[in-house]
Amino acid sequence: MSLAHIPGYPRIGAHRELKFALESFWRGDSNEQQLQELAASLRLRHWQSQANAGLDLVTVGDFAYYDHVLQTLALLGAIPERFGFDPASLNLQQYSELARGNSQQFAMEMTKWFDTNYHYLVPEWSQHTRFDGGTNWLFDEVSQAQAAGFQPKVVLLGPLSLLALGKVKSGLSHALELLPQLLSAYQGILQRLQQQGVSWVQIDEPVLSLDLDAAYLAQFLPCYQALSQQAPKILLASYFGDVSQHLDLLQSLPVAGVHLDLVRGTTLTTDVLANWPAPQVLSLGVVDGRNIWRTDLRSVLHKLQPVHAALGERCWISSSCSLLHVPVDLDSETRLDIELKNWLAFANQKITEIQTLRLALDQGEAAVAEQLAASDQAVQSRQSSKRIHNPLIQKRLQAIAAKDTQRHSGFSERIRAQQEKWQLPLFPTTTIGSFPQTPAIRQTRAAYKRAEISHLDYLEKMRAEISLVVSKQEELGLDVLVHGEPERNDMVEYFGEQLWGYGFTDFGWVQSYGSRCVKPPFIYGDVYRPEAMTVSWSAYAQSLTDKPMKGMLTGPVTMLQWSFVRDDQPREVTARQIALALRDEVCDLEQAGIGMIQIDEPAFREGLPLRQQDWAHYLDWAVQAFQLCAAGVRDTTQIHTHMCYSEFNDILPWIAAMDADVITIETSRSDMELLDGFSSFSYPNDIGPGVYDIHSPRVPKPEEIARLLGKARSVIPDARLWVNPDCGLKTRQWQETELALANMVAAARQLRLLA
Ligand code: GLN
Ligand code: ZN
Repeated sequence: MSLAHIPGYPRIGAHRELKFALESFWRGDSNEQQLQELAASLRLRHWQSQANAGLDLVTVGDFAYYDHVLQTLALLGAIPERFGFDPASLNLQQYSELARGNSQQFAMEMTKWFDTNYHYLVPEWSQHTRFDGGTNWLFDEVSQAQAAGFQPKVVLLGPLSLLALGKVKSGLSHALELLPQLLSAYQGILQRLQQQGVSWVQIDEPVLSLDLDAAYLAQFLPCYQALSQQAPKILLASYFGDVSQHLDLLQSLPVAGVHLDLVRGTTLTTDVLANWPAPQVLSLGVVDGRNIWRTDLRSVLHKLQPVHAALGERCWISSSCSLLHVPVDLDSETRLDIELKNWLAFANQKITEIQTLRLALDQGEAAVAEQLAASDQAVQSRQSSKRIHNPLIQKRLQAIAAKDTQRHSGFSERIRAQQEKWQLPLFPTTTIGSFPQTPAIRQTRAAYKRAEISHLDYLEKMRAEISLVVSKQEELGLDVLVHGEPERNDMVEYFGEQLWGYGFTDFGWVQSYGSRCVKPPFIYGDVYRPEAMTVSWSAYAQSLTDKPMKGMLTGPVTMLQWSFVRDDQPREVTARQIALALRDEVCDLEQAGIGMIQIDEPAFREGLPLRQQDWAHYLDWAVQAFQLCAAGVRDTTQIHTHMCYSEFNDILPWIAAMDADVITIETSRSDMELLDGFSSFSYPNDIGPGVYDIHSPRVPKPEEIARLLGKARSVIPDARLWVNPDCGLKTRQWQETELALANMVAAARQLRLLA
């Protein structure tokens, strides 16, 4: 008998129950006990789903009140000392303050979990860090699962990944100096789990998929030698990337088993898998934990069969990684088109797929003939559906030539022509696109979506909003205006809804961080733009003013990154299709008299692959996709782009190759330090480094803005420098927005007098 399990289950709840419970607790509408009870009921339901589907072990330890890295720190007692909490008696109020900050302490830093859209809280390491024990939550959860009759497999974030994912704050020259202490803490935890009767512990070491520092690699063997004594059986799990370069290491570890992600970038052959040395168990992550497509069971089965034949009981079946990254249950989608729905699988469906594969291996294909036939039919339908392949788009893709990705003239010539046309002052002022999304705007959009108000009523209300935003900007004296984006609920969804090839769900929520969830659309077919998407809004806005109105689009990489993508063609092909659709929109905007067009790419950097060796390929196609959007216009049309979280000093040649006339970036929180790379690289085109942080309601003083601009001027020539906030203003209130922008304009004007 092979064994079926998953590395983790989504914790947020099929209807985001955990989100709502957390937010109610934070508001003070419910107490700690109520939150704990809700959490316990969710865990129970999630184990039930796993057991009902037929999985042998249910996963315990994948639950977290905010984040699994913070949960691990709470277990170890290694919470940041600066909060002054007693780790042994940490309560949920304090736990929440670690994640969200309090009046004395800023929150723990949050950053992206590998190349997913999940964010974890970054451990803070110092010479004072102790691992003397913290909460008993994990042990209680084990007891809860056992009491309910489940066989738990406990999951822990591995010690080496934990150290590597943290940041050294003080008093240490390397995080690994903490390893001896940390290991004895893990030993203590493992012993306790063993006493509880836990037979398997999955220890996650996802850092194996990164370019890992040799110092870390050297610790794997001693570390797992230490951990495998007097402990439950250890399943060492790697995921998110190819670990074939660590094959010898993995096989030499004294662990009872190894889990591999066989979906993402693996180059391991069937031969290698079938010859996996005894006595290690090999857990094969064959069902995609990062995407929402139904598995082609037959073809996976045929790959598994020789491995199973060779390994027998040592062959386990699983998803590639934790199902944290997919929505919970496709059955909730009652409005989804039946054909599309048949191509998808969310967490619950994926669990069933794992069980089907296991049964097919153990009992033969005949035992699950029906499930296999249904899978075949779905594969067949997806391959042949007219909704996937569009010959016109294929033809257009084929026809892309070098000239399509190049503006007519180089930047120096273009900027001269643009300057002549626009006559902008030195240090032109602008904003990033969105203005405050008031409750009234949201209500209007929602009412329109529910068909409660007519199209004309909706138009009138949105136009009124646009006209308000335009007149406010004129009063403020901004140089380049925007329409404010009141019609957009989300910068990807807005466009996706107007493009063929994009699908949407009602409950496809995925945790992004804490209580925050996203509902990414999915791209299933060739992307095609049947008609203009933004032109009427922008043209209307332009008609209200003599100042230049910037058109506002979401770029191809961001459209891709923030969606579930096709797995039947490379990402770059999908990116190119989206780029062609956007190119048409850019040209239509130009035609309609919009002379400045911003193509937002906030997700440009987050698309970077995990390993540096893969960067150049990604950057090449990502840059090309942007150029494809931008290069269809005249020299006098000014192309802007915007990127948040702009730590991209290491990829500046590619940012420059995008050749946007103007790039606006987020820099205020780093005190303009992010600009340093731009100076040493001597970035050629115009730059607008954000002069104030829009994430906080605080109104920056003109002097602060002037100081930041002074710093920017030491790096960027005056003629190239723009003045703008860090990002869009949609989450802000009008009052602070007006004050902040007035100060920004004042600072720019003051600077003009000096320059
Ligand atoms: N134009 C968008 C806005 O202003 C950009 C958002 C973003 O960069 N995330 O809201
Ligand atoms: Zn931004």
